[in-house]
Amino acid sequence: MRYISTRGAAPALGFEDVLLTGLATDGGLYVPESLPHFSLEEIRSWRGLPYSELAFNVMYPFVEDAIPAADFRTMLEETYEVFAHDAVAPLVQLNSNEWVLELFRGPTLAFKDFALQLLGRLLDYVLEKRKQHVVIMGATSGDTGSAAIEGCRRCKHVDIFILHPHERVSEVQRRQMTTVTGDNIHNIAVRGNFDDCQRMVKASFNDQSFLGGKTQLAAVNSINWARIMAQIVYYFHASLALGGPDRSMAFSVPTGNFGDIFAGYLARQMGLPISQLVIATNRNDILHRFMSGNRYEQHQLEHTLTPSMDIMVSSNFERLLFDLYGRDGAAVKSLLEEAQTGPVSIDDYRWKHVRKLFDSDAVSDEATCDTIREIYERNEYLLDPHTAIGVRAARNCRRDQSVPMITLGTAHPAKFPDAIRQSGVTVEPALPKHMHDLFEREERYTVLNDDIHAVHGFMLEHWKHA
Ligand SMILES: *Cc1c(COP(=O)(O)O)cnc(C)c1O
Repeated sequence: MRYISTRGAAPALGFEDVLLTGLATDGGLYVPESLPHFSLEEIRSWRGLPYSELAFNVMYPFVEDAIPAADFRTMLEETYEVFAHDAVAPLVQLNSNEWVLELFRGPTLAFKDFALQLLGRLLDYVLEKRKQHVVIMGATSGDTGSAAIEGCRRCKHVDIFILHPHERVSEVQRRQMTTVTGDNIHNIAVRGNFDDCQRMVKASFNDQSFLGGKTQLAAVNSINWARIMAQIVYYFHASLALGGPDRSMAFSVPTGNFGDIFAGYLARQMGLPISQLVIATNRNDILHRFMSGNRYEQHQLEHTLTPSMDIMVSSNFERLLFDLYGRDGAAVKSLLEEAQTGPVSIDDYRWKHVRKLFDSDAVSDEATCDTIREIYERNEYLLDPHTAIGVRAARNCRRDQSVPMITLGTAHPAKFPDAIRQSGVTVEPALPKHMHDLFEREERYTVLNDDIHAVHGFMLEHWKHA
């Protein structure tokens, strides 16, 4: 399988190189040149498989040039064994034909573990083979950082530097990053917001000369193709559990960078019957404004109760645009360059086309809290605020009551106790057993100014020169 850039002017790469690369050299994102397609019969034959075997069937076509089947199977078994539920991604029913897919049973209690537990293993496998070292540099508004650190802490060939906005992530989120021990793990708290962190990471990727040619940077944010790939699997898993592929499904996805929902779009392209995808956003609603009014325009970043969705521009949306423009990289490039300077619209027929599958909704903090409270009162089930946005949007956008509506449960409620409290629910969401001593563990992080030279200096001092 070859991978090509969404901006059409970078070399095609194989899986190993795509895994180790961030952005393509033309500024685009890598996507598979063509997707595998599964027949209904084939998908049906996967019913009842353990999660890791299903994962093998869905993902192997993407990696087969780089990894022998037996090695990939072992890697997947190890990856999904660490999840604290035998079903890995269990479904919980809220109402008739309405479900939450719990994706927060991994080590850091958010769906990002699905991809990052695998990514760490993939990286070490490929680096071992190539006798190479990489430095992972990433910015996080919370969940990515801890999942990346957990995913990479046993990696022999990786140093990881995670930047988070100082005092702008929840205490649980911070502790999940800063209490993991390992001499290859480095946490930096930046005096600034998430976008300041993100800007420094982007600039570092664009000019890696500060590393002196001794190592290279690798990305773990959702521009990394391997993350998207791993997220395709649970759409198949949920569908098969509820009678798919013999009936179609609707999914509602709490959305920030558009990675998770893009994986759902790919599952559909690969043959899984999906009739509706709901983009659920908070007040940072660029995608909702685009979907409802064909106007793509950046607004100021707002801080909400759902920090993992506080994002001004969703980078993976470019991957959808690439398909929408008939895979014309030059057209995507000019559209996104224009969007840098002001609002843009796309051709009406393309916009209508994208709306056949996608709906959207933007949910306020108040409505988020209302939903947490309503569901708790009705179901005695606690939603985290991100998942609550998904449930709210699912209800607002639902097209067909006879089609199962599945909201992706993206985080465990114990990660966001403040939002739960604010919603008026009086029970405290308890941390799962494997984390009960989180608040006693020792933390390790360094606070730095929003200054790229300070960050680079720290990195040079701290990565273990391989
Ligand atoms: C990352 C994250 C999201 C957003 O996912 P994207 O793939 O960036 O759209 C939503 N909810 C939670 C809890 C997250 O951690």
